[in-house]
Amino acid sequence: MNPIPNEYAEVALEITEYSRMMWSKGYVEANGGNISVRLSCDMIISTPTMESKGNLKPEDMVISSFEGDKIYGNRAASSEIKTHIAVYKSNPQAKAVIHSHPPYTCSFAFTDSLPFNLMSAEALFWLDKMCVVPFIMPGSEDLSNEIALQCKGSSVILLRNHGLITWGEGIKEAWWRTEAMESNCKISHIIKERGDTPVNLSERERLSLEKLKDSYFNRPQ
Ligand SMILES: [Zn+2]
Repeated sequence: MNPIPNEYAEVALEITEYSRMMWSKGYVEANGGNISVRLSCDMIISTPTMESKGNLKPEDMVISSFEGDKIYGNRAASSEIKTHIAVYKSNPQAKAVIHSHPPYTCSFAFTDSLPFNLMSAEALFWLDKMCVVPFIMPGSEDLSNEIALQCKGSSVILLRNHGLITWGEGIKEAWWRTEAMESNCKISHIIKERGDTPVNLSERERLSLEKLKDSYFNRPQ
């Protein structure tokens, strides 16, 4: 037994809560999906391998080094932890990474329909930087290398024929990106199915939202 130290109990609990939310919304199936949070001292705490995200306990979490080696935990980390590390290494401001398989997002990532319009304020606010990574075997070194190459500055990463990765400066931000992405894809799907055409935001509306976003993220205006 090699339990995680008590000082990480709170973040471990937080991960179980977001994992349950991800499962209950149908964003993951079987053992799919994983969540990690970057701790100080270049360590990562993450969900374990081969487990449903619907019923995790804080003691199931695993702490790994930045090289992917396990440090604490009674379980093994997900093999996809390497892709999380690639995201953290390419984006130093990333503090949490969520990987999921939300059905509407996947339905776009499984076809050539990308890219699609960002139609709402939430979508424009949270989904501005996206990249698409071709299908590469999940959990492989090749996939981590490709993600590291492509995801610099992109907080939303679509994996072809696989799923979605989002990151944030906190777990809440990463989660909101996942929700905003799935919602945008769902709405796009509904409009398409009805044979309708979306009304896009005007340039002026887009600029106002960009301004609001810049002040939220403290970017120079
Ligand atoms: Zn996956």
